[in-house]
Amino acid sequence: MDMTGFETLAIHAGQEPDPRTGAVTVPIYATSTYKQDGVGGLREGYEYSRSANPTRTALEQALAALEGGTRGLAFASGLAAEDTFLRATCRPGDHVILPGDAYGGTFRLVARVLANWGLEYTPVPLGDVDAVRAAVRPNTRVLWCETPTNPLLGIADIAALAGVAHDAGALLLVDNTFASPYLQQPLALGADVVVHSTTKYLGGHSDVVGGALIVQDGELGEQLAFHQNSMGAVAGPFDAWLVLRGIRTLGVRMDRHCANAERVVDYLTTHPAVERVLYPGLPDHPGHEVAARQMRGFGGMVSFTLRGGEQTALKVCELASVFTLGESLGGVESLIEHPGRMTHASVAGSPLQVPDDLVRLSVGIESIDDLIGDLASALA
Ligand code: PLP
Repeated sequence: MDMTGFETLAIHAGQEPDPRTGAVTVPIYATSTYKQDGVGGLREGYEYSRSANPTRTALEQALAALEGGTRGLAFASGLAAEDTFLRATCRPGDHVILPGDAYGGTFRLVARVLANWGLEYTPVPLGDVDAVRAAVRPNTRVLWCETPTNPLLGIADIAALAGVAHDAGALLLVDNTFASPYLQQPLALGADVVVHSTTKYLGGHSDVVGGALIVQDGELGEQLAFHQNSMGAVAGPFDAWLVLRGIRTLGVRMDRHCANAERVVDYLTTHPAVERVLYPGLPDHPGHEVAARQMRGFGGMVSFTLRGGEQTALKVCELASVFTLGESLGGVESLIEHPGRMTHASVAGSPLQVPDDLVRLSVGIESIDDLIGDLASALA
């Protein structure tokens, strides 16, 4: 029978019951190598686990199915996936357009690692498509899009940026970490590559660090797979299994993340201590219309600024208790953090510096009354 529904694919794609035992979950193949039946006689193509491992293959097939791609590749972290993609597709002297509010780690990778290798870059506000078009140079090879962005929740129009990238002969990459494939399908909107920190919503339980690349084009898929094997930053079998287990409940988790986030936003927008709430579901968010068009829901991430400035923002982070003070996002438990001092400290002093009165919430799937109650006492 054909499997086309998202939740069905999440549970079954790449995850057929084990042919030997009938086990309904994919086994963790904790092996580095595989017995050959005569020299070069590989069973199902497996020779060495940097090149391929059956648990990782299952995850890669699931990722490809969920993003509507033909090939998924699983990495040791989101940044390992990003590095592999950029080195596979760019040469020293090539140029990349970055979001003006990209994830700080992405900016650091490009500005402080790959720039030393000869990669040129320009940060541009991606909400302004004309500004993106104006930033294109003859050597532009990649248009890097993140939507929604971390931590300012900026929205970019994926279909419009695909047009700009393709007119320039460049590739459009979309970092789909904040939305997850349940809420947003960049390949269907014209993107060439999707990148994920699977550490976040795909894993979903804050128990693993991982990354992924997904593509539709077979030749690009081969090129990236060659670099995945040559550079070696692969996901190990246990990590691949954890992400796969998380993926099976992605749909129901995302529905609850979105519903809880909307209630949190309703609460924060009327709170006197809060200056501004950043959430693409708000009608006055500059990217609201685009987000409503290209996303199924507005996600579980909410940022806000405080009238009391940085000291108040730090206090709120420390006073919350159901919202755990910590980096990362996308797990079942709610997290709170101060991007300026924590996740985005690496961009201090750069054009990507974030406001010091900003607080970021990863709204989890706990009981909503407990979440609102916690925010009420932290903001009191
Ligand atoms: N992209 C986004 C939007 C992120 O938030 C992160 C991490 O926070 C990454 C990429 C990097 O992923 P990882 O931490 O798994 O290397």
